[in-house]
Amino acid sequence: MSTLILDGKKIANDVLQSVQAEGDELAKKTGRAISLVVISVGEREDSKKYINSKLKKAQLLGFSARNVCLNENTTQIELENTIQALSIDNEVDGIILQLPIALDSNRAIEKIDPKKDIDGLHPKNQVALISRKDGLFPCTPLGIIHLIKEARSILVNSSDLSALNVVVVGRSELVGRPVAQMLINENCTVTVCHSKTNNLNLHTKSADILVSATGFAGLVSEVKEGAILIDVGLNYDSKVVRGDIDFNAVLPICAAITPVPGGVGPMTVAMLMKNLVKAKSLQLAYAHNPLK
Ligand code: NDP
Repeated sequence: MSTLILDGKKIANDVLQSVQAEGDELAKKTGRAISLVVISVGEREDSKKYINSKLKKAQLLGFSARNVCLNENTTQIELENTIQALSIDNEVDGIILQLPIALDSNRAIEKIDPKKDIDGLHPKNQVALISRKDGLFPCTPLGIIHLIKEARSILVNSSDLSALNVVVVGRSELVGRPVAQMLINENCTVTVCHSKTNNLNLHTKSADILVSATGFAGLVSEVKEGAILIDVGLNYDSKVVRGDIDFNAVLPICAAITPVPGGVGPMTVAMLMKNLVKAKSLQLAYAHNPLK
């Protein structure tokens, strides 16, 4: 059987279609469009590109979206006050603090209402993920889980991941750790590798599912026959963007693989939009039952 190349753009578009339908329903119910605010501090060319793509995507789905751009001399307390004001503003449903910033981002994120924290970085949402409670969780890991389930549905007609051996290469707070936690919650047996892991190949060759998020081009070249491979890495050191996985080396061995670009990337923004709609739903549920 030929290897399944997971088309992130197409899968993301399917997600966005259902997000739009759900968003339209909520707008009808509440009498206004769902609204997103992206807060930035200072002007960074790379950040500007990411902010514009998030705002554009939200607007395309019929949501209202704006950038609150604070000047580069903004103090920690001014940033926190701005976040707090947006957190209690009933007209704002989702808040993103565009990173990196030169201020203390952890302290600032703690000021976001957890029910508006669509990047899933607030400590309350991190605890919810670990304790298997409902909440808002990081978008790239959510996109990875969606891709894995899509692959399993196509390959074995079931999205159940129970008992599968998964190797996650990378243990960052934004990708490696949350995706490992989500996979544990899916009843997988998860091994997390990192820069101090001995004999990485030994681990990668044993994985039914492999997720690599290191930013180290071509790091993974030995995999298990029939594995599902998710390549999160983006490496810009050559003219073409490359992933962590040596695509040509593993293509004849694996059952499914994400391309770079066009695999995980498009899923991240789709999951951000999904989180925005979920944030609105959580706020409505909370308004009806404040003790929840
Ligand atoms: P970080 O730099 O925060 O983390 C990298 C991780 O990789 C660390 O845990 C590090 O280990 C590990 N690592 C580095 N070198 C090796 C090695 N030789 N062997 C094993 N492990 C190694 O990166 P992020 O998690 O933020 O991102 C990872 C990659 O994913 C980047 O290329 C980034 O651009 C990309 N990315 C793509 C996204 C998308 O939407 N497509 C979204 C987010 C990220 P240690 O902890 O020991 O240092």
